[in-house]
Amino acid sequence: MLLGSTVNPSGGVIEEPSRSLPVSNDCDVLVAGGGIAGVAAALAAARLGADVCLLEKTCALGGLATLGNVTVWLPLCDGRGRQVSGGLAEELLKLSVANLGRDNKSAQFIGVPTCWQPGGDAATRWKTRFETRFNPSSYLLALEKRVTDAGIKILYDTRLCAVHRAGDRISHVVVENKSGRSAIACRTVVDATGDADLCFLAGEQTESLDSNVLSGWFYTLQENGMNLHCLSNRYNPRGTQEKAEGPFFRGDDADQVTAHLLETRELIRKRLESIRARKPEADVQLVSPPTLPCFRMTRRLVGSVSLGARHVHQWFEDTIGLIGDWRQAGPVYAIPFSALQGVQTANLLVAGRCLSADTTVWEVTRSLPGCAVSGEACGTAAVMALRQTGGNVQALPITALQNQLVKQGVLLDPALVSPAGPLP
Ligand SMILES: Cc1cc2nc3c(=O)[nH]c(=O)nc-3n(C[C@H](O)[C@H](O)[C@H](O)COP(=O)(O)OP(=O)(O)OC[C@H]3O[C@@H](n4cnc5c(N)ncnc54)[C@H](O)[C@@H]3O)c2cc1C
Repeated sequence: MLLGSTVNPSGGVIEEPSRSLPVSNDCDVLVAGGGIAGVAAALAAARLGADVCLLEKTCALGGLATLGNVTVWLPLCDGRGRQVSGGLAEELLKLSVANLGRDNKSAQFIGVPTCWQPGGDAATRWKTRFETRFNPSSYLLALEKRVTDAGIKILYDTRLCAVHRAGDRISHVVVENKSGRSAIACRTVVDATGDADLCFLAGEQTESLDSNVLSGWFYTLQENGMNLHCLSNRYNPRGTQEKAEGPFFRGDDADQVTAHLLETRELIRKRLESIRARKPEADVQLVSPPTLPCFRMTRRLVGSVSLGARHVHQWFEDTIGLIGDWRQAGPVYAIPFSALQGVQTANLLVAGRCLSADTTVWEVTRSLPGCAVSGEACGTAAVMALRQTGGNVQALPITALQNQLVKQGVLLDPALVSPAGPLP
């Protein structure tokens, strides 16, 4: 199956001869995509003793958080003084600033707020969100060390290109890398590609958006040190082009991915020129432009349930984690396990940017807390399903999964989903 919708109108088709592929690896849990969702899924699975293979098409972990310079670890709290996301979300937030040394205001490297450290002041937690701003280069190294220490097999420079099914399961994923094309045998799979590549290839129903705008955060080195520039055209958080600033892009089209990168870099050049024009005497050097296309919402799974804004403060029987709303204080969303499951594929789970949430709430689920919370649930469920239901994630008893997640530090208290009371 062809990925994306780019076709050369004059090119026609060629027949690709069928061929035998070597099986280059064999694992219990295959995680496709090494962004924050994929890292969380891989860590959760490895810590339960599974053989985990983590595929990443670039040559580093972290995805948009590191290679896209998207360096605000959005809050683990509800803005009303309550922490709502725990487990690996908390661990990975803390890891993001573990090597910071000290805060750096111009670069926007800022550690865990004092009030959110152990014994911190409860009243201040109402005013200060539980978030960090990290150095993407140190985070990239820290993530890689955490993943390799957990015994996870990383395959860098390796792109997922096809899947093989056996009945209602994915039995192998086909990859391409420097060694050529090969298959990896797997028993459960997690799609953490951000673009639902695995779901699409597996024939699951997906939805794509064509409303991505030019964005690319970058740094400059100036006399006052590093400076972060959050460059982005205006976008519509509801995933439409209305009131947003074009040109617009689909994230699942090969030509458009390249166009987005080229045009974003042109915008960075112009921004740099205008900074220099404003400060002709200053030495302004560009550092670290993003090396991934900075698409917010591309393609996602359409699961049996799609989380929406209407579900705010709603507890689901199959809740696997909670997230606050980074845009405003108050709202809390429970993420149902059914929004992470393939519909036609019994051993497929989906984490991060491409989980099943509609555009009314995608803006919240795609943030780093949503990615880590869903990743941890997927990795945990993938291993438990192997042991309890022959790899069928849809048949996994939800209470067993919830109990295991709570053991891992995930916050799963229905009271936390209800609106908070007044400031004590
Ligand atoms: C401009 C912008 C600003 C943002 N601001 C913030 C913010 O301030 N705070 C915040 O919390 N969130 C922010 N976000 C959202 C957040 O950064 C992302 O939604 C989140 O990082 C997504 O994580 P992920 O792991 O789901 O996906 P990604 O980070 O996209 O990771 C997916 C990984 O999969 C790999 N991959 C993709 N396809 C394949 C394939 N076929 N084979 C192998 N590997 C593959 C990719 O290379 C990548 O490493 C922002 C996003 C953008 C674009």
